[in-house]
Amino acid sequence: MEHFNVIVIGAGSSGGVVAARLTENPDISVLLLEAGPDFPDEEAVLPLFAVSGEHSWRVAGVPELDWRYWNTDTAKVTSGHPIRLARGKLSGGTSMVNATIAARGAPNDYNRWASMGNLGWAWDDLLPYFIRIENDLDFGGQPIHGSSGPIAVQRYKPETWAAVNRAFYDGCVQLGFEEAPDLNAPDAQTDVVGALAHNRYKEIRQGTLVTYIRAARPRPNFTIRGNANVDRILLDSAAGRATGVRYIDPHGQPVEIAADVVIVSAGVYGTPLILQRSGIGPADELQAVGVQAVADLPVGHHLLDHPGCALTFVAPALSGSTGRLFATNVRGPAGANGEMEWQVHPFPIDEEVGTAGLWIYLPRQDAEGFVRITSADPDAAPIIDHAYNTLDSDYRRFKLAYDFCNELLATPIFQQHGAKSQMADRPFAEVLRNGINSANHQVGTCKMGPADDPTTAVSPNLLVHGFSNLMVADASIYPEHILHNTNFTCMVIGEIAAELINGQRAGGIRL
Ligand SMILES: Cc1cc2nc3c(=O)[nH]c(=O)nc-3n(C[C@H](O)[C@H](O)[C@H](O)COP(=O)(O)OP(=O)(O)OC[C@H]3O[C@@H](n4cnc5c(N)ncnc54)[C@H](O)[C@@H]3O)c2cc1C
Repeated sequence: MEHFNVIVIGAGSSGGVVAARLTENPDISVLLLEAGPDFPDEEAVLPLFAVSGEHSWRVAGVPELDWRYWNTDTAKVTSGHPIRLARGKLSGGTSMVNATIAARGAPNDYNRWASMGNLGWAWDDLLPYFIRIENDLDFGGQPIHGSSGPIAVQRYKPETWAAVNRAFYDGCVQLGFEEAPDLNAPDAQTDVVGALAHNRYKEIRQGTLVTYIRAARPRPNFTIRGNANVDRILLDSAAGRATGVRYIDPHGQPVEIAADVVIVSAGVYGTPLILQRSGIGPADELQAVGVQAVADLPVGHHLLDHPGCALTFVAPALSGSTGRLFATNVRGPAGANGEMEWQVHPFPIDEEVGTAGLWIYLPRQDAEGFVRITSADPDAAPIIDHAYNTLDSDYRRFKLAYDFCNELLATPIFQQHGAKSQMADRPFAEVLRNGINSANHQVGTCKMGPADDPTTAVSPNLLVHGFSNLMVADASIYPEHILHNTNFTCMVIGEIAAELINGQRAGGIRL
């Protein structure tokens, strides 16, 4: 059987980083398996990955490069409208289809992770990794920022913004929000408005395909296989070890490969699905679909997101999409626990009709959802239920954001443009039911924490509980959500996973 030192499953934000970093050691052979296509010639087809000067999610619109997942509304509280759960299916994963907002979590997010028993995951521990991954073209000289990492980061100047961003920013200042030049600074958390940082360079998304993976691709110890849909992990459950991986090749044939270490980086949906098919998951749920459990762990539970809702208004002068979109962001006031309770971005909708919108989203969703296999067949569609709109506590924060938006539309700058809400004649509960959607920041389905916490599946050293060489490294390990966008934290998780294997971080695996 073919053998590698390390197999990484999934070439996304985390998987692309961990695989590329591990190949820096020429003595470690690495196989990166990706269900979607790889693009070895990506430098020649770069326009495919362009974010246009405005803001086109071009790759996200290519059905072949998406997993085509949809939310299941078990509680029947989202009016039956379809909620698409976009996920990239290509080398680079979702980092190559996302909106390129380059955000860190708040310091307190990671301090909470550490306080849940995850030593080594506090803000002070993670800051060096955030610095390492970035080349911040605006603030790279500051001690909290990096200037030599692989991911270029920049904020767009106000004169380049679409009109709605300008009015939004000015309206927030008129309401008393403080101007924050750097939304990635630790203190820019509440009551601030600012320009969002983006990981784009020359209009190309700085996802892992065109950064980490590109740099590592020529190394002789690195093998990348696209169109390799991983079915399951091969396990020696008595020994608590992974022995390899079984995937389905592009011709539909199963292939088995041996490894010393297996790292599952298939994302918030893909990772729990692979583990469940391998018998690692809630025993009763696995039994119900004919899979024998080898480890009874809450894999697939604790699915979290940032749920959002678009509020639309008429203001012809603000409806044009010329200029930078998703350029600005306001972070609301602190709630009882000291954390911001909502965020809002503006966006243009239709210049011919004269409409624009405000995208409100919750940085924390109290409701927890799940992802679950329906069969052992790797091609069978899973059930994914985000439990959107099921809790009053989540509704309360949405209502606070909605009230803010009405105040914003009443500011002199919006009134100067004749802004008029299209939601005013409907109860907010109805607006939310019909409009709730995903901000695409799903996390948490293999929760990290100590083995004696029954809600967790993975240790602070990223090992699946009960296994000595099976790791998870991606968005699924978040023990709690963070307040901001998720991509950079996933890259940091990839950096840490690599250190746990190459001996640079205590408590890892020695090859
Ligand atoms: C439309 C959209 C916009 C977003 N915008 C932003 C943003 O602006 N800023 C931000 O910070 N975050 C954003 N996000 C979220 C962010 O991109 C993700 O949180 C992050 O990319 C997740 O990284 P990951 O490594 O966990 O998973 P992914 O990057 O999704 O990687 C998982 C990889 O595993 C592969 N895989 C899955 N199953 C298998 C299998 N069975 N076999 C082999 N391979 C498999 C997948 O194809 C994929 O390549 C956005 C997400 C979306 C969808």
